[in-house]
Amino acid sequence: MIREDNPVEAYRGRFAPTPSGRLHLGSLLAALASWLEARAHRGRWLVRIEDIDPPREVPGAAADILASLQACGMPPDEPVWYQSQRAPAYEAALAELLARGLAFRCPCSRSDLEPSAGVHRGPCRPSDRDRTPAIRLRVPAGRIGFVDRIQGLFEQDLAAEVGDFVLKRADGLYAYQLAVVVDDAAQAITDVVRGADLIDSTPRQILLQRCLGLPTPRYAHVPVLLDGDGRKLAKSAGDAAVCGADPLPELRRLLGFLGQPEPGAGSLEAFLAEAAGQWEIGSVPRRRGLPVAG
Ligand code: GLU
Repeated sequence: MIREDNPVEAYRGRFAPTPSGRLHLGSLLAALASWLEARAHRGRWLVRIEDIDPPREVPGAAADILASLQACGMPPDEPVWYQSQRAPAYEAALAELLARGLAFRCPCSRSDLEPSAGVHRGPCRPSDRDRTPAIRLRVPAGRIGFVDRIQGLFEQDLAAEVGDFVLKRADGLYAYQLAVVVDDAAQAITDVVRGADLIDSTPRQILLQRCLGLPTPRYAHVPVLLDGDGRKLAKSAGDAAVCGADPLPELRRLLGFLGQPEPGAGSLEAFLAEAAGQWEIGSVPRRRGLPVAG
């Protein structure tokens, strides 16, 4: 466990976008918050492209996201990782979980799980035992909780609410939950700052960390930006890309959403340095979503 009282632990944060579209205001908010937190701790800030789902990937999106971060004055401190190159690490984690009986091969189809509303609990009841199996984590009874640095205590009864969840799909794709846990540990991430739409993935990730004997980072979930219909701004929905020739107006606006005072500085570099100097995670609104007016 990473402890607040461990001053030796070097802060390592990350931004982990899925390349399903260009960087939009909502994802830039998560990037900015995690970058400011890392800078305020004099830590390192990493970028990891979560390209494990080829059907969702948009060609050129990864390069575009990286160029936008650069244009916004937030280049990563270390070489970028690509999850598409990490299959051996995910396979090693799966092999360990299977060998220890913590994960299992599951031939159940979606329709087999209909009676339990899509939730897999306990023994498999496949209509076809020969179907190519997925790999699921065996989820034990009990609540898993953590104290989020922005949202406060968050708890889930994973067995009841989520069930035995998928780590590798029958079609061979690795699940986000597995890849993110393996890579956060492999990159020695101490602090995850990301959008609050992912808060209910966190107990699954903590359980998986425990199963694999990996440390649990600290978590802070920032509010997600909502459009006029109360929906999350989404890159795949074609929301306008950000960080053009002059990213300052957008960054100013985002700092306002994050409850931070507005820096006076004029140049991008000075602006970001001032924002990092006065960054207070405690001022970020304790909300899951924030409407973006206009
Ligand atoms: N790849 C995820 C996304 O773009 C974020 C993963 C994370 O920050 O844990 O929504």
